Amino acid sequence: MSVIISVQNLVKHYDKFEAVKGISFEVEQGEIFGLLGPNGAGKSTTLEIIETLRTKTSGTVVVDGFDLDKDPNSIKKIIGVQLQTSGFYPGLNLTELIEMFSGLYNRKTDAGKLLDMVNLRDKAKAKYKALSGGQKQRFSIATTFINQPKIIFLDEPTTGLDPQARRNLWELIKNIRQSGTTVIITTHYMDEAEVLCDRVAIIDSGRIVAIDTPDGLIDKLVSSGFQKPKTVKQANLEDVFIQLTGHDLRAEA
Ligand code: ADP
Ligand code: MG
Repeated sequence: MSVIISVQNLVKHYDKFEAVKGISFEVEQGEIFGLLGPNGAGKSTTLEIIETLRTKTSGTVVVDGFDLDKDPNSIKKIIGVQLQTSGFYPGLNLTELIEMFSGLYNRKTDAGKLLDMVNLRDKAKAKYKALSGGQKQRFSIATTFINQPKIIFLDEPTTGLDPQARRNLWELIKNIRQSGTTVIITTHYMDEAEVLCDRVAIIDSGRIVAIDTPDGLIDKLVSSGFQKPKTVKQANLEDVFIQLTGHDLRAEA
């Protein structure tokens, strides 16, 4: 394993407010690394600094050997950032949007192949604005691949999706890891973090309070004496939901 992202003593002030209070962590090449934490913890700020989209107050960030202070353009070239879904021209169709982004990156992209990857080939001629929430999310993940990045950043990619679309995105994200790409993701869903993430950092009020594998964190809590009332049920309401409505993605999902 080699380190692909190294963040040391990162601090971010917004005027007098210290949103990120000196955090350090490393991401290994090829892993899915989760940043977890309550709203306002500083997750998006941290990601956007690494993505070169926000300035930092102090600290060092090195991505694939490139120092953020010296060589932000080299970092930009090797990362894929999921745009907020509002960042797409609503009147263009998916093929046109992919061609537009390819032009920006100066790359040739096989739009059909890219749409296949996210299960959207049948929407190649559909306008972006005609997509459902899940389709928009999948499309925005597809666009992060246009510059063939080594690392992709996903900030709450499954927020607001139905259970089928959420599981479908998990498969997509696992496939991305399979292809050797490193993934950094934020999520408020702990079940999702458990399924997807090789390691997670838990961040609270601008500080990292724990970093480990999900299993490692759970085992540590349990060995500290933590107990909760044992549930005898072998399933939960989400299992019921999936059982009754199936795993298939809905036409509008
Ligand atoms: P998270 O993504 O974990 O919810 P953010 O990184 O978005 O947290 O925000 C961390 C803190 O910084 C929050 O208190 C937020 O209100 C504040 N913040 C974020 N962006 C700005 C900004 N542009 N100006 C001032 N404060 C900001
Ligand atoms: Mg955020």
